Amino acid sequence: MNLEKLMNDLEKKHPGEVEYLQAVREVLESIEEVVNENPHFETAGIVERIIEPDRVLSFKVPWMDDQGKVHVNLGYRVQFNNALGPYKGGLRFHPSVNLSILKFLGFEQIFKNSLTTLPIGGGKGGSDFNPKGKSDTEIMRFCQSFMLELWKIIGPEMDVPAGDIGVGGKEIGYLYGMYKKLTHEHHGVLTGKGLNWGGSLIRPEATGFGAVYFAKEMLATKGETFVGKTVCLSGFGNVAWGAAMKVNELGGKVVTLSGPDGFIHDPEGISGDKIEYMLELRASNQDIVAPYAMEFSEARFHAGKHPWEIKCDVAIPCATQNELNEADAKNLVANGVLCVAEGANMPSTPEAIEVFHENKVLFGPGKAVNAGGVATSGLEMSQNAMKLNWRREEVDERLQHIMISIHDTCVKHGTEPDGHINYVKGANVAGFLKVANAMLDQGVI
Ligand code: NDP
Repeated sequence: MNLEKLMNDLEKKHPGEVEYLQAVREVLESIEEVVNENPHFETAGIVERIIEPDRVLSFKVPWMDDQGKVHVNLGYRVQFNNALGPYKGGLRFHPSVNLSILKFLGFEQIFKNSLTTLPIGGGKGGSDFNPKGKSDTEIMRFCQSFMLELWKIIGPEMDVPAGDIGVGGKEIGYLYGMYKKLTHEHHGVLTGKGLNWGGSLIRPEATGFGAVYFAKEMLATKGETFVGKTVCLSGFGNVAWGAAMKVNELGGKVVTLSGPDGFIHDPEGISGDKIEYMLELRASNQDIVAPYAMEFSEARFHAGKHPWEIKCDVAIPCATQNELNEADAKNLVANGVLCVAEGANMPSTPEAIEVFHENKVLFGPGKAVNAGGVATSGLEMSQNAMKLNWRREEVDERLQHIMISIHDTCVKHGTEPDGHINYVKGANVAGFLKVANAMLDQGVI
């Protein structure tokens, strides 16, 4: 495999799609050896086929605000690869959304979904719509308009979207309502649904819970546990919330949370009432981080900064892509971090990952660490197909098994001769092999 030629060709076809090119390069670097050992992959053009999405739908989303003014946003769905099952991946509503970001997320999703052991392919979608500060009726009108285009290419056996940044239970409800109206069908076409109309217990907290289960396994390779560990989290959304709850449950202390405007440091620990308070702020759809420091005097707000300057044993970035750079990684290493587990997708820059690997820090990439979210979405699809609801304990047990299995797979494919576990390589190689072999079986299509 000629990696540089592949990347040059891709760059020429998709100039400026920085995040997508970054994600492809990271995967290709990890799988180069395994592709070279399997010449039939090269003959069948597996790599050239896997790095381009099957198709991309882009559309305009006109919607009316509460004052009667019409706005137009852009909407997308990237259907990347369905060798293992229906396309599956979240919808992101955030002003930063563009095709490069959705292609990076969709590409990563192929390997993540492959790792879950469930029969799901990879996709992603979203819009540059900003739900922040919008009323519920504005969000509803936007979701309805978005679905007026999306419904044509999704279905429970075709493509099953879910939530991501800016898309939680409320948005999934509005999207589902419109889908139902258009198709006259009530089935598992979206995941993250409300509990009383097809949703799964544990789904809201699954990504964060799964990330902490994975980090627990990482720590165990060094004979360590969460008990007494100081943990820095970033973000305070769907993922960070579940992670904070589970870290507390396992005996760790969460000391930071963040938003786009800065982070809060609470050396006493963020648990119980404090998490409840954050959830209230979050539900109000307002700026959520800064007011925390006014409510709890032991906490300090650090405007415009990342939490990675705070000393911790475990770091779990849960906000967004490229939020932890080389300088942040050096800070964490200098402060003795043991384990970095990516709750978000691609939060660490390539230079930061290099620093972690050079210093033999346990580093878990998002596609393995945060796979618990999509895995539980897969469990929601199974429950919908069977018209059954599993108990909370049942879903949680399956989630734990899946995270342990992903960890074992990473160890199997990523352990280096000196015993260091390269989780990036392990996740990429294992995720790739399963999809590549399915593509070989299914012929050139
Ligand atoms: P949410 O929108 O619920 O939360 C994102 C959090 O990050 C919010 O607290 C947000 O603050 C904060 N944030 C956003 N941008 C920045 C920034 N530039 N700097 C610092 N903080 C920021 O999203 P999710 O929790 O769902 O997703 C977070 C990450 O996890 C994403 O990378 C997503 O792709 C990934 N992920 C999510 C899954 C899920 O199940 N939800 C599954 C797998 C991965 P504010 O609200 O103030 O903007």
